[in-house]
Amino acid sequence: MSFRCEEALMSDLDLDPTQLDRYSRHIIMDDVGPEGQKALLDAEVLVLGAGGLGAPIIQYLAAAGVGTLGIADDDEVELSNLQRQVIHGNDDVGRKKVDSAADFVEQLNPDIDVRKHELRVRPDNIEDLIDGYDFVVDGTDNFATRYLVNDACTLAGIPFSHGSIFKFEGQVTTFAGDDGSPCYRCLFPEAPPAGMVPNCATAGVLGVLPGTVGCLQATETVKHIIGEGESLDGSMLFFDALDMEFDKVEIPKRDDCPVCGDDPAIESVHDVEYSASCAIDVGGDDESEPEIEASD
Ligand SMILES: [Zn+2]
Repeated sequence: MSFRCEEALMSDLDLDPTQLDRYSRHIIMDDVGPEGQKALLDAEVLVLGAGGLGAPIIQYLAAAGVGTLGIADDDEVELSNLQRQVIHGNDDVGRKKVDSAADFVEQLNPDIDVRKHELRVRPDNIEDLIDGYDFVVDGTDNFATRYLVNDACTLAGIPFSHGSIFKFEGQVTTFAGDDGSPCYRCLFPEAPPAGMVPNCATAGVLGVLPGTVGCLQATETVKHIIGEGESLDGSMLFFDALDMEFDKVEIPKRDDCPVCGDDPAIESVHDVEYSASCAIDVGGDDESEPEIEASD
């Protein structure tokens, strides 16, 4: 047993010998240590979507020992999901994704308390859903939900991670949820007309892409909980898997943002008509920002 683990065993952090062993590669790091591991075990994180992005997010947060993991999804596992949604297996086809995901987590790490939310995120349930969670990870696959998550988390001051994927491209950022931070509407004030941007079901997605983007979201989540490093708050990270390039673009906070600006038009999610619209006005002619949708 390492010195750090022995030290942790003698501390009052309530880590038992099994946990010291399981999380030993965290505990021996100065930037995590027993305190960081305890923070992870005490954290309550909500993952929206147990699909392409949700799978690696759930997988790594469970392995890292995030003590309470909420999982919200109302879909069933389909055979065409298995090309990328790696927490579900062949025998899970036809089962609810929340059940399959919860079984996966239990098998990986019995420390984790999984809260299953078998529902589709909507304006009438999101406020109760996110209430009490320390951090929200958005792995959903449509613009209506993306805006709803942004508005609800921003208004509630709950930090959240955004990720999306399209064919070979992905984007990820973190919104800290405090007064100085931008939100998704600072970048894209409104969703685009329905049907303008295809989703994964119609356009396809490279199977490993959500693995990369979801792992980046999980990394941001862990860093937020242990309070280490620089987060993506205030910038969007674009990933192009074909060219194997990452590009980080600043997201300025907008004074006239309809949610987090000086005189916000949106004071509640009930002020907005969230539709199934799936496109977005990228806010001008900035060619450096790919149009991206869908993280199914
Ligand atoms: Zn904003």
